[in-house]
Amino acid sequence: MKEYLEKALKEINLELNEKQLSQFEQYYDLLISWNEKINLTAITDPEEVAKKHFADSLSLIKVLSLNEIESVIDVGTGAGFPGIPLKIAFPHLKITLLDSLNKRIQYLGEVNDNLALSDVVLIHGRAETIARDHDHRERYDLCVSRAVAGLSSLSELCTPFVKVGGVFAPYKSEKAEEELSEAGNALNLLGCEVRKVEKFSLFDQVRCIPVIKKVRNTDDKYPRREGIPGKRPL
Ligand code: SAM
Repeated sequence: MKEYLEKALKEINLELNEKQLSQFEQYYDLLISWNEKINLTAITDPEEVAKKHFADSLSLIKVLSLNEIESVIDVGTGAGFPGIPLKIAFPHLKITLLDSLNKRIQYLGEVNDNLALSDVVLIHGRAETIARDHDHRERYDLCVSRAVAGLSSLSELCTPFVKVGGVFAPYKSEKAEEELSEAGNALNLLGCEVRKVEKFSLFDQVRCIPVIKKVRNTDDKYPRREGIPGKRPL
């Protein structure tokens, strides 16, 4: 894993120290062993995991300066992507990992303990409900999310977590511009503006991460109740 990861990280101009590389190795071992018990990922080959999960999660550094960010929430983190790679590479981050599947949260608890991470909060729940909780609403500098929903519904799930002045950075594919134009109304209703759209190719795939700034408080009526943002996007 270590050699594959170092090679993959060259693509995004990132170097990690020995401790961080060994944390990624431990993370990979746990991913593979838990994947036999619960469904975490279809990608298991070490080179592919290094590229498509680890380096892809870290490709956010092409778009944002993580050193200037303190608190992050990863909505629909699944097996911990992109949240855990971001935490390993930028240990100063206070990171909250949210997922609606409890087994994935239990697995992330073991990852957290084994890698001896600090300032990681794990939450089992749906974004629609947790975003209404005073302790999480408009509390984060940054909200990230990868492979969870189309941008219109995802914006309703994610932007209520972001404080005014903070950023929502969804990991999207080459269809990002299309999704952004469809989500224009939703982003406006939620108090957000698109500031830039970074598109780059990474390991023969197109990755696009728009930087969406929260400019006003989100109205209390958002997010709507569980399931509605997905069924009836704004
Ligand atoms: N982000 C990870 C990745 O890129 O590998 C996981 C992606 S997986 C396809 C989507 C995850 O989002 C699942 O683990 C699912 O349980 C979670 N999820 C879907 N809707 C959610 C919601 N409304 N609130 C919280 N988690 C949600």
